[in-house]
Amino acid sequence: MARILIAEDETRIASFITKGLAAEGHTTTTAADGVTALDLALSGEFDLVVLDIGLPRLDGYGVLDGLRSQGARVPVIVLTARDSVADTVQALEGGADDYMPKPFRFAELLARVRLRLRQADDRPTSREDALEVGQVRLDLRSRVAQRDGRTVELSAREFQLLELFMVNAGQVLSREQLLSHVWGYDYDPGSNVVDVYVGYLRRKLGADAVATVRGMGYRFGPTGGTRG
Ligand code: CA
Repeated sequence: MARILIAEDETRIASFITKGLAAEGHTTTTAADGVTALDLALSGEFDLVVLDIGLPRLDGYGVLDGLRSQGARVPVIVLTARDSVADTVQALEGGADDYMPKPFRFAELLARVRLRLRQADDRPTSREDALEVGQVRLDLRSRVAQRDGRTVELSAREFQLLELFMVNAGQVLSREQLLSHVWGYDYDPGSNVVDVYVGYLRRKLGADAVATVRGMGYRFGPTGGTRG
């Protein structure tokens, strides 16, 4: 169950979303203008914001800008009738996590709500939006990696593993450390799952992305030579 702020000035749509989310067990609050929405969203009392772009007093872009510029990282799903690529890009660059063109079926919105709540649960506590080590960049919002500017899609586990490697770049991490951080404690210590996933990362990011340190584990990132 989550606390969800619905910023929507059209009563009919606000009530449609409210009813659907309440039926899923979520608690909702509605704001009918952007200034109220921003105030409420900044309170830190919400797990997710569903944000209409066309709002009175302050539009959705203004609300997003206010939120992100004040460091609020609450996930935001933008609703808009302006179903164009330019608007999508503007919303996402403004710090929205997802985008839902109107009209939509409730199931479509619900799928996005579930996804964003799940991702928020295991979002890193770091306030950084991206990690960068050598030629590899990892966007912590979109969970997409880039190698030499080439986009690499990652599975959830690959993302977690790569994030752990990049946060600890240059350090050797043992299989046990990797297992417990990425797979949790419910694992078989004799499992070769770490080696398998390191293999996946090498295939996606280049064979040299992760070094094997014999008898110790794995190391990501520059070796002494490139670091000086
Ligand atoms: Ca509106």
